[in-house]
This record gives sequence, C-alpha cells and structure tokens, in this order.
Amino acid sequence: MNQSENNYAQDPLQLISENLTSSSNRYSRQIRYANIGATGQKELGQARIAIVGIGALGSVIAQHLVRAGIGYVRIIDRDIVEWSNLQRQMLYTEADALALLPKAEAAAAHLRAINSSISIDPIAADLTSQNAEKLLSDVHLILDGSDNFSVRYLINDYSIKHNVPWIYGGAVGSSGMTMTILPMESPCYRCMFPEPPPPGTTDTCDTAGVISPIIDMIASIQATEALKLLTSNHQALHRTLLQIDLWNHTWLPLNVSGARRNDCPACAHNHYLFLESNRQEPIAVTLCGRQSVHITPGIYAKLDLNSIAANFTKIGNVEQNPYLIKLHLNDQLSLILFADGRAIVQGTEDSTKARSIYAELLGN
Ligand SMILES: [Zn+2]
Repeated sequence: MNQSENNYAQDPLQLISENLTSSSNRYSRQIRYANIGATGQKELGQARIAIVGIGALGSVIAQHLVRAGIGYVRIIDRDIVEWSNLQRQMLYTEADALALLPKAEAAAAHLRAINSSISIDPIAADLTSQNAEKLLSDVHLILDGSDNFSVRYLINDYSIKHNVPWIYGGAVGSSGMTMTILPMESPCYRCMFPEPPPPGTTDTCDTAGVISPIIDMIASIQATEALKLLTSNHQALHRTLLQIDLWNHTWLPLNVSGARRNDCPACAHNHYLFLESNRQEPIAVTLCGRQSVHITPGIYAKLDLNSIAANFTKIGNVEQNPYLIKLHLNDQLSLILFADGRAIVQGTEDSTKARSIYAELLGN
C-alpha cells in the first residue's frame, strides 16, 4: 500500500481537504494557461514586488497579484480608509473606514484572508527621498498605485538607479494611462514627462472625479504586465504608452519604442534629482478630493501615542486605535496623527493652515 492509499484508509476527509487547499489546486487554472504553466507559477512564487499606494489602482493590482501567488508583496501607503474611498477602492469595507484603519494595515488583513500562503508586508508610510532606498529595496518589480506625480518621479529615479522595472498607472474621470518602464531598455517616465506639471494644471480626481471601471481596467493591465514580467514573458509586454477612455470607448496605444531621450536626466545622465534630494523640511500635500492635507515631518519620529492622546483630551475629543490618534478640534477640523510623526489635517485644503495647526499641537 503506498502512502496516499494509507492516508486515505486512515482519514479520507483530511486527505480531501489537503488536496482542496493545495497550491497546485489553488493555481490550477493559471498553471493550465500555457504562457504561465508550472514553470511560470514557480517564478511567481519566488517573486517579490512592492505596490506603492493601495488606494483604487493598488487595491485591484494587489488582489490580482496576491490571488496569482506572488511570493512576497510589500504594500506602502500613507493614508487611512475614508468613506469617500468606498466607491472605487475595492479592497475596503465600511468597517475599515469607521475604524480609521491605515490602508496598508486594512489591505494586508483582507489580502491575507484571500491568500494566507504568501508573505504580505504592510508599511504605513509616505514614500519620500528619505526612505525610498530602504522601502523599495529587495524587490523585482514596483507597481504604481499612487495618485501623485512626486511619488512617480521618485519611483522612476529608484528604478533607473537600481535597474528595477516599474509599471506606471493613473486614472481620472473615465480615462487612464499606463506604461511599463524597463530601465535602459524602454523610455523612462522622465523621457516621456521630463518635469512634474505645475500644481493645478492637470485634472485630478478632485477636480474631474473618477468612475471605478477605468481604475479596474488600468490596474488589470498593470497586473497583466506584472505577470508577463515575472514569468519571463518579456516579449509579450505591450511596450506602449497606453491611453484608454472607457466612456468614449477609445483605446490608444502610443508606440514609444523610439522615445528614449539622450538628454534624459534620469536614464541618460544618471541624475536622480528626486531620489537624492536631501529634504529636511516638513512637506504638506493637499489630498485628492478630500478636504485634507497630509503632513510628512522633516525627520521621522517614534511618538508615544498614549501620552500624546492624554494631552490631546484637554483640547478636544480623541479617538485612538493601535496605529493613530484622531483629535477633533471643532466641528470642521480634525488632526490624525501617526506614530512616525505624520499627520492628516482634515477639514482644510490650505496647506499653510494645516502646517500651522501641526506646529501648534506638536511643535516642529
Ligand atoms: Zn529617461
């Protein structure tokens, strides 16, 4: 009698349940897909990725790639789950928003429930020039789920400097754009968009809104490109700057094969302006469509949230969870403070006002 017959004789239910939850069963449809196969599945299991921003795009990218069995997924996000996110940020629930959970932590909990066999590493932080070298290290691929230009230029610098591909994605209104950046092979993000646009000159989901299907579409293309890259299917990459408008039903792949610039600061001259800026000043950024300002301190701290919460109760109502405290200053204004010193001032889009509230409450 061989081992499996022996097991069957002893405990048929256990054997059936082990087969049902085996990795060969979990990934069977993907393995059957000829372009991936058993070899590709093994490559996915050994792959390490970082997803920067786990909002609308990041939620969809993460779901696809976690379900596909990528071995290690790091998720980096500075934000908390809010009610206005639920319309399009597919990973989150009303309970996450009511509990004021950081997106990185809420996403990690949902993703672990989807696939407990892979490693999920949530990092609730703002990706900046100070921490990018650390937070983006040791991955084979970076996926852009962010909603802002400065992060993309930072990712691009890191990508070129360390020869790590990244997949750009963005969506607003009913249209979106994506491109896969292969260092020294394809044009980089700065070849295509040499400088960040001046604030206020581009549509954002704040000014133009956004419908959720375009986000799924762009994120699904990003996830597919990731599957190709991580399973040695480089010949299948789309190699375009792809623009899609779902409302008008247009699909515009712009051929970028000749678009590498020999005056590109990043990929031609190796000047990593965004990655190597030695910023020590706090940064205040107005958050897309949210009447909120995010403040990143010049120097990160490790705050004792319990003692700060005790002080804050003298000023207003305080809510607290293991990751943050929220101080209600009045009916309109509140301050959310994280243990690393970051804060979100809710109820204003005035970054100067937000910084002065932060300085008054916490010093500089
Ligand atoms: Zn370039």
